[in-house]
Amino acid sequence: MALIVTGTIGIDTLHAPTGSAERVLGGSCSYFAAAASHLTPVRVVGAVGGDFPAEHGRLLESFTGVCLKGLERRPASRTFAWGGRYLDDMNRRETLFTELGVLEEAPPKVPADYRDSRFVFLGNTHPAVQMDLLSQFPDRELAVCDTMDLWINVARPELLTLLGKVDGVVLNDQEAMQLTEARNAVSAGRAILDLGPRFVVVKKGEHGAILAHRDGVATIPAFPADAAQVVDPTGAGDTFAGGLMAHVARTGKGDLATVQQGMAWGTVMASFTIESFGLDRLTRLDTKQIDDRMRRFQAAAKVG
Ligand code: AMP
Repeated sequence: MALIVTGTIGIDTLHAPTGSAERVLGGSCSYFAAAASHLTPVRVVGAVGGDFPAEHGRLLESFTGVCLKGLERRPASRTFAWGGRYLDDMNRRETLFTELGVLEEAPPKVPADYRDSRFVFLGNTHPAVQMDLLSQFPDRELAVCDTMDLWINVARPELLTLLGKVDGVVLNDQEAMQLTEARNAVSAGRAILDLGPRFVVVKKGEHGAILAHRDGVATIPAFPADAAQVVDPTGAGDTFAGGLMAHVARTGKGDLATVQQGMAWGTVMASFTIESFGLDRLTRLDTKQIDDRMRRFQAAAKVG
Protein backbone atom coordinates (compact mmCIF):
# COMPACT_ATOMS: atom_id res chain seq x y z
CA MET A 1 0.00 0.00 0.00
CA ALA A 2 1.30 3.41 -0.99
CA LEU A 3 3.87 5.16 1.17
CA ILE A 4 4.29 8.95 1.14
CA VAL A 5 6.95 11.12 2.80
CA THR A 6 7.65 14.77 3.33
CA GLY A 7 10.73 16.35 4.92
CA THR A 8 13.79 18.25 3.79
CA ILE A 9 15.58 17.83 0.48
CA GLY A 10 18.75 19.71 1.09
CA ILE A 11 22.37 20.49 0.50
CA ASP A 12 24.65 19.16 3.25
CA THR A 13 28.21 20.04 4.23
CA LEU A 14 29.67 17.35 6.46
CA HIS A 15 32.83 17.13 8.54
CA ALA A 16 33.90 13.96 10.29
CA PRO A 17 37.16 12.46 11.53
CA THR A 18 36.95 10.28 8.40
CA GLY A 19 36.87 13.26 5.98
CA SER A 20 34.56 15.95 4.65
CA ALA A 21 31.90 16.37 1.98
CA GLU A 22 30.88 19.76 0.55
CA ARG A 23 27.36 20.56 -0.63
CA VAL A 24 26.25 16.97 -1.18
CA LEU A 25 22.62 15.87 -1.48
CA GLY A 26 21.03 15.43 1.94
CA GLY A 27 17.87 16.10 3.88
CA SER A 28 15.54 13.90 5.89
CA CYS A 29 13.25 13.23 2.93
CA SER A 30 16.09 12.32 0.56
CA TYR A 31 17.59 9.76 2.93
CA PHE A 32 14.21 8.31 3.88
CA ALA A 33 13.04 7.95 0.28
CA ALA A 34 16.32 6.50 -0.98
CA ALA A 35 16.30 3.83 1.73
CA ALA A 36 12.59 3.02 1.50
CA SER A 37 12.74 2.70 -2.28
CA HIS A 38 14.87 -0.42 -1.95
CA LEU A 39 11.90 -2.17 -0.31
CA THR A 40 8.77 -0.50 -1.74
CA PRO A 41 7.80 2.47 -3.98
CA VAL A 42 7.73 5.81 -2.17
CA ARG A 43 6.11 9.15 -3.05
CA VAL A 44 7.98 12.36 -2.22
CA VAL A 45 6.42 15.71 -1.29
CA GLY A 46 9.02 18.46 -0.93
CA ALA A 47 10.48 21.64 -2.35
CA VAL A 48 13.89 22.87 -3.50
CA GLY A 49 15.10 26.24 -4.73
CA GLY A 50 16.76 27.54 -7.89
CA ASP A 51 20.19 26.72 -6.40
CA PHE A 52 19.44 22.97 -6.23
CA PRO A 53 22.20 21.37 -8.33
CA ALA A 54 21.02 19.40 -11.37
CA GLU A 55 23.30 16.53 -10.33
CA HIS A 56 21.43 16.23 -7.00
CA GLY A 57 18.18 15.98 -8.95
CA ARG A 58 19.68 13.23 -11.12
CA LEU A 59 20.88 11.39 -8.04
CA LEU A 60 17.36 11.38 -6.57
CA GLU A 61 15.95 10.24 -9.91
CA SER A 62 18.41 7.33 -9.97
CA PHE A 63 16.43 5.62 -7.19
CA THR A 64 13.84 3.98 -9.40
CA GLY A 65 11.31 3.41 -6.61
CA VAL A 66 11.20 7.12 -5.72
CA CYS A 67 8.33 9.09 -7.31
CA LEU A 68 9.26 12.78 -7.62
CA LYS A 69 5.96 14.09 -8.97
CA GLY A 70 5.53 15.90 -5.64
CA LEU A 71 8.94 17.63 -5.77
CA GLU A 72 8.41 21.36 -6.34
CA ARG A 73 11.20 23.39 -7.91
CA ARG A 74 11.00 27.07 -6.94
CA PRO A 75 13.43 29.07 -9.09
CA ALA A 76 13.32 32.22 -6.93
CA SER A 77 13.86 30.36 -3.62
CA ARG A 78 16.83 28.84 -1.77
CA THR A 79 17.18 25.14 -1.00
CA PHE A 80 17.38 23.98 2.63
CA ALA A 81 21.05 23.71 3.59
CA TRP A 82 22.67 22.20 6.65
CA GLY A 83 26.21 21.77 7.97
CA GLY A 84 27.27 19.30 10.64
CA ARG A 85 30.45 18.15 12.33
CA TYR A 86 31.01 14.80 14.07
CA LEU A 87 33.17 14.64 17.15
CA ASP A 88 35.88 12.04 17.61
CA ASP A 89 33.73 9.06 18.58
CA MET A 90 31.21 9.75 15.77
CA ASN A 91 28.35 9.38 18.25
CA ARG A 92 28.05 13.09 18.84
CA ARG A 93 27.58 15.82 16.28
CA GLU A 94 27.14 19.54 16.30
CA THR A 95 25.14 21.59 13.83
CA LEU A 96 27.33 24.23 12.17
CA PHE A 97 24.54 26.03 10.31
CA THR A 98 20.94 25.57 9.19
CA GLU A 99 19.58 27.65 6.28
CA LEU A 100 15.84 27.10 6.15
CA GLY A 101 15.28 28.48 2.60
CA VAL A 102 12.05 26.96 1.21
CA LEU A 103 11.01 25.82 4.69
CA GLU A 104 10.08 29.43 5.45
CA GLU A 105 7.60 29.46 2.55
CA ALA A 106 4.25 27.74 1.90
CA PRO A 107 4.30 23.94 2.30
CA PRO A 108 4.70 21.91 -0.92
CA LYS A 109 1.50 20.77 -2.65
CA VAL A 110 0.36 17.15 -2.76
CA PRO A 111 -0.27 15.88 -6.32
CA ALA A 112 -3.85 14.64 -6.89
CA ASP A 113 -2.74 11.09 -7.65
CA TYR A 114 -0.96 10.80 -4.29
CA ARG A 115 -4.33 11.04 -2.52
CA ASP A 116 -4.68 7.27 -2.10
CA SER A 117 -1.49 7.05 0.04
CA ARG A 118 -2.19 5.03 3.18
CA PHE A 119 1.15 5.15 5.01
CA VAL A 120 2.38 8.65 5.84
CA PHE A 121 5.82 9.56 7.13
CA LEU A 122 6.46 13.11 8.31
CA GLY A 123 10.23 13.40 8.14
CA ASN A 124 12.16 16.10 9.90
CA THR A 125 10.92 19.55 8.88
CA HIS A 126 8.89 22.35 10.45
CA PRO A 127 5.96 20.81 12.40
CA ALA A 128 3.57 23.14 10.54
CA VAL A 129 4.65 21.54 7.24
CA GLN A 130 4.26 18.08 8.78
CA MET A 131 0.78 19.01 10.00
CA ASP A 132 -0.18 20.36 6.57
CA LEU A 133 0.63 17.02 4.91
CA LEU A 134 -1.02 14.98 7.64
CA SER A 135 -4.28 16.93 7.39
CA GLN A 136 -4.57 15.91 3.74
CA PHE A 137 -4.72 12.17 4.58
CA PRO A 138 -7.76 11.63 6.79
CA ASP A 139 -8.13 7.99 5.61
CA ARG A 140 -4.55 6.97 6.33
CA GLU A 141 -3.71 3.58 7.81
CA LEU A 142 -0.69 4.84 9.76
CA ALA A 143 1.03 8.20 10.26
CA VAL A 144 4.45 8.48 11.89
CA CYS A 145 6.59 11.57 12.46
CA ASP A 146 10.19 12.41 13.30
CA THR A 147 11.48 15.59 14.88
CA MET A 148 14.74 17.13 16.10
CA ASP A 149 16.27 19.61 18.51
CA LEU A 150 15.69 22.70 16.34
CA TRP A 151 11.92 22.09 16.13
CA ILE A 152 11.64 21.19 19.81
CA ASN A 153 13.28 24.57 20.53
CA VAL A 154 11.54 26.85 18.05
CA ALA A 155 8.15 25.20 17.39
CA ARG A 156 7.20 23.26 20.53
CA PRO A 157 3.47 24.21 20.53
CA GLU A 158 3.04 23.11 16.88
CA LEU A 159 5.00 19.93 17.62
CA LEU A 160 2.78 19.08 20.60
CA THR A 161 -0.32 19.53 18.42
CA LEU A 162 1.21 17.19 15.83
CA LEU A 163 2.06 14.56 18.45
CA GLY A 164 -1.59 14.50 19.44
CA LYS A 165 -2.54 13.46 15.89
CA VAL A 166 0.04 10.88 14.75
CA ASP A 167 0.04 7.14 15.47
CA GLY A 168 3.77 6.90 16.06
CA VAL A 169 6.96 8.89 16.57
CA VAL A 170 10.55 8.01 15.66
CA LEU A 171 13.26 10.15 17.26
CA ASN A 172 16.65 9.77 18.90
CA ASP A 173 17.32 9.50 22.62
CA GLN A 174 18.72 13.03 22.99
CA GLU A 175 15.67 14.51 21.29
CA ALA A 176 13.28 12.34 23.31
CA MET A 177 14.90 13.49 26.56
CA GLN A 178 14.93 17.12 25.39
CA LEU A 179 11.22 16.93 24.58
CA THR A 180 10.19 15.36 27.88
CA GLU A 181 12.96 16.23 30.34
CA ALA A 182 13.10 12.51 31.22
CA ARG A 183 16.51 11.14 32.23
CA ASN A 184 16.72 8.08 30.00
CA ALA A 185 15.33 6.73 26.73
CA VAL A 186 12.74 4.39 28.27
CA SER A 187 11.27 7.08 30.52
CA ALA A 188 11.31 9.56 27.64
CA GLY A 189 9.53 7.08 25.34
CA ARG A 190 6.85 6.47 27.96
CA ALA A 191 6.43 10.22 28.57
CA ILE A 192 5.92 10.83 24.83
CA LEU A 193 3.11 8.23 24.82
CA ASP A 194 1.29 10.56 27.21
CA LEU A 195 1.38 13.24 24.49
CA GLY A 196 -0.77 11.15 22.13
CA PRO A 197 0.94 8.58 19.89
CA ARG A 198 0.31 4.86 20.48
CA PHE A 199 3.97 3.97 19.92
CA VAL A 200 7.33 5.71 20.18
CA VAL A 201 10.58 4.45 18.67
CA VAL A 202 13.60 5.91 20.46
CA LYS A 203 16.85 5.42 18.52
CA LYS A 204 20.04 5.07 20.49
CA GLY A 205 22.65 5.05 17.72
CA GLU A 206 25.13 2.20 18.07
CA HIS A 207 23.10 0.94 21.05
CA GLY A 208 20.00 0.07 19.01
CA ALA A 209 16.47 1.31 19.57
CA ILE A 210 13.49 0.84 21.85
CA LEU A 211 9.81 0.61 21.02
CA ALA A 212 7.59 2.03 23.76
CA HIS A 213 3.84 1.35 23.64
CA ARG A 214 0.93 1.26 26.08
CA ASP A 215 1.58 -2.39 27.06
CA GLY A 216 5.33 -2.29 27.51
CA VAL A 217 8.74 -1.70 25.95
CA ALA A 218 10.64 -3.79 23.37
CA THR A 219 14.31 -3.38 22.47
CA ILE A 220 16.30 -4.08 19.32
CA PRO A 221 20.10 -4.02 18.98
CA ALA A 222 21.97 -2.06 16.32
CA PHE A 223 23.77 -3.92 13.53
CA PRO A 224 27.24 -4.57 14.96
CA ALA A 225 29.61 -2.33 12.97
CA ASP A 226 33.37 -2.03 13.50
CA ALA A 227 34.56 1.54 13.98
CA ALA A 228 36.32 1.34 10.60
CA GLN A 229 32.97 0.81 8.86
CA VAL A 230 31.47 4.02 10.25
CA VAL A 231 32.40 6.71 7.72
CA ASP A 232 29.48 9.18 7.97
CA PRO A 233 26.49 8.62 10.29
CA THR A 234 24.44 11.37 8.60
CA GLY A 235 21.02 10.10 7.60
CA ALA A 236 21.17 6.99 9.79
CA GLY A 237 18.00 8.10 11.57
CA ASP A 238 16.14 8.91 8.36
CA THR A 239 17.13 5.66 6.64
CA PHE A 240 16.15 3.72 9.77
CA ALA A 241 12.71 5.30 9.47
CA GLY A 242 12.71 4.61 5.71
CA GLY A 243 13.36 0.90 6.20
CA LEU A 244 10.80 0.70 9.01
CA MET A 245 7.99 2.45 7.14
CA ALA A 246 8.74 0.68 3.85
CA HIS A 247 8.36 -2.69 5.55
CA VAL A 248 5.12 -1.61 7.22
CA ALA A 249 3.74 -0.22 3.92
CA ARG A 250 4.64 -3.28 1.85
CA THR A 251 3.08 -5.52 4.54
CA GLY A 252 -0.01 -3.29 4.57
CA LYS A 253 -0.39 -3.48 8.35
CA GLY A 254 0.31 -0.86 11.01
CA ASP A 255 0.14 -3.14 14.07
CA LEU A 256 2.88 -3.18 16.68
CA ALA A 257 4.31 -6.55 15.62
CA THR A 258 4.80 -5.26 12.07
CA VAL A 259 6.33 -2.02 13.38
CA GLN A 260 8.77 -4.09 15.44
CA GLN A 261 9.75 -6.16 12.37
CA GLY A 262 10.10 -2.88 10.51
CA MET A 263 12.64 -1.73 13.09
CA ALA A 264 14.88 -4.61 12.01
CA TRP A 265 14.64 -3.51 8.35
CA GLY A 266 15.35 0.05 9.45
CA THR A 267 18.41 -1.08 11.35
CA VAL A 268 19.73 -2.89 8.29
CA MET A 269 19.15 0.10 5.98
CA ALA A 270 20.87 2.47 8.44
CA SER A 271 23.84 0.11 8.69
CA PHE A 272 24.53 0.64 4.97
CA THR A 273 24.06 4.41 5.05
CA ILE A 274 26.84 5.02 7.57
CA GLU A 275 29.42 3.21 5.44
CA SER A 276 29.91 6.15 3.09
CA PHE A 277 29.37 9.93 2.85
CA GLY A 278 25.92 11.21 1.93
CA LEU A 279 23.63 8.91 -0.03
CA ASP A 280 26.51 7.22 -1.79
CA ARG A 281 26.18 3.75 -0.23
CA LEU A 282 22.44 3.68 -0.92
CA THR A 283 23.14 4.13 -4.64
CA ARG A 284 25.23 0.95 -4.66
CA LEU A 285 22.81 -1.35 -2.93
CA ASP A 286 20.82 -4.31 -4.21
CA THR A 287 18.22 -6.69 -2.78
CA LYS A 288 20.71 -9.49 -2.29
CA GLN A 289 22.99 -7.31 -0.14
CA ILE A 290 20.01 -6.16 1.93
CA ASP A 291 18.66 -9.70 2.44
CA ASP A 292 22.12 -11.05 3.30
CA ARG A 293 22.61 -8.37 5.91
CA MET A 294 19.16 -9.00 7.35
CA ARG A 295 20.09 -12.69 7.79
CA ARG A 296 23.35 -11.70 9.51
CA PHE A 297 21.48 -9.24 11.73
CA GLN A 298 18.92 -11.87 12.73
CA ALA A 299 21.70 -14.32 13.55
CA ALA A 300 23.60 -11.70 15.58
CA ALA A 301 20.49 -10.63 17.50
CA LYS A 302 19.39 -14.16 18.34
CA VAL A 303 19.05 -14.86 22.04
CA GLY A 304 18.17 -18.03 23.99
P1 AMP B 1 19.94 12.29 10.59
O1 AMP B 1 21.42 12.08 10.53
O2 AMP B 1 19.15 11.06 10.27
O3 AMP B 1 19.49 12.94 11.86
O4 AMP B 1 19.53 13.32 9.45
C1 AMP B 1 20.46 14.13 8.79
C2 AMP B 1 19.76 14.96 7.74
O5 AMP B 1 18.83 15.84 8.36
C3 AMP B 1 20.75 15.84 6.98
O6 AMP B 1 20.82 15.38 5.65
C4 AMP B 1 20.20 17.26 7.09
O7 AMP B 1 20.09 17.91 5.86
C5 AMP B 1 18.82 17.08 7.69
N1 AMP B 1 18.52 18.09 8.70
C6 AMP B 1 19.37 18.69 9.56
N2 AMP B 1 18.71 19.56 10.35
C7 AMP B 1 17.40 19.50 9.99
C8 AMP B 1 16.22 20.15 10.44
N3 AMP B 1 16.23 21.04 11.45
N4 AMP B 1 15.04 19.82 9.85
C9 AMP B 1 15.02 18.92 8.86
N5 AMP B 1 16.09 18.26 8.37
C10 AMP B 1 17.28 18.55 8.94
